[in-house]
Amino acid sequence: MTRRTGFVWHEKFAWFDLGQDAGMFHPDGFSIQPDRHVYDLEVVRRFRNLVDVSGLLDQLTTIPARPATDDELQRVHPATFVEEVKRLSELPMGGEAGDSAPVPRGAFTIAALAAGGAIAAAEAVINGDVDNAYALLRPAGHHAEPNESKGFCILSNAAIATRHLFEECGVERAVLVDWDVHHGNGTQAALYDEPRALTISVHQDRLYPQDDGFVDQIGAKGAEGTNLNVPLPPGCGTEAYDDVFDRVVIPAIRSFAPDIIIVPCGFDAGHMDPMGRMMLTSEDYRRLTRKLMALADELCGGKILFLHEGGYSRWTVPFYGLAVLEELSEIPTGVEDPFQMYNGMDLGHGLLPHQKAAVDAAVENLERVPSRS
Ligand SMILES: [Zn+2]
Repeated sequence: MTRRTGFVWHEKFAWFDLGQDAGMFHPDGFSIQPDRHVYDLEVVRRFRNLVDVSGLLDQLTTIPARPATDDELQRVHPATFVEEVKRLSELPMGGEAGDSAPVPRGAFTIAALAAGGAIAAAEAVINGDVDNAYALLRPAGHHAEPNESKGFCILSNAAIATRHLFEECGVERAVLVDWDVHHGNGTQAALYDEPRALTISVHQDRLYPQDDGFVDQIGAKGAEGTNLNVPLPPGCGTEAYDDVFDRVVIPAIRSFAPDIIIVPCGFDAGHMDPMGRMMLTSEDYRRLTRKLMALADELCGGKILFLHEGGYSRWTVPFYGLAVLEELSEIPTGVEDPFQMYNGMDLGHGLLPHQKAAVDAAVENLERVPSRS
């Protein structure tokens, strides 16, 4: 039995171009030679193209992206912020909407299309038009806070989609599991006081933002226990991530018992990512996807939605993404990830004591997660 998997993609997502920065830094005319920005637009296009040439794209259900309306955006972002992003986006050279948040000319249009793509995918899953879905979005959203864009993210796609599910679709509880290597600070900020949303972020400790993502951030008054951070030391691989999922993520979700699981899905915890220092491979992403699908089957009729976030290796991200889509659709393509063999990483995939200690610290917050009963 295969599953009907929805797929959101729009070529305009790859038109969000951060230009000639060197890595994530502006060339200074002194020491840094201009180069491509690390948030390389070809990553998502190569992901989409691999899904195409593998033959899988034809077997997925296309969900058209449409621009989110101002009202939809304003469920998360104040009107003044939305107007400011529009204004910057109309300047001849664009502007900056926050820390590491360039807004190139025309970017608002594309960001609103990504947010609307997240909403469309969420609607399709919750209405049963598809069994599950992957929205391949750009710009990403999980660093964008209500009042400030951050970290290459402009609008808070996952939080906007979650609010839409609450306001328009009768959803009573949602879980967001963010496995991007960076902290999901924007999603956390947008939903910190929302008792209907359990936000979980598994990330490299203080990678970005460096002053956020701590284990003691458990949710605002009235929503205690609905935010879980699992900050991990660099170097975590298969067994460390399995430990996080088996001892923190899965028990928390089971206790909260959501109507849908949403995965802000960055692939920058991958073993060849230039930004993160983790060691996941496509087989790890495949296995973690299966774990969450099994939980969605148990709790919420299989309803699970992946929203694309970071991931900076133009070589490996497409293979990680294909592995996730093969699991979601239960359609194997026969395409092998050549980089799976490259890692020589059996040596680095065990659970080390300092990694286990980081998971232990997060386990202590489990008892605060409100159970649905
Ligand atoms: Zn990231």
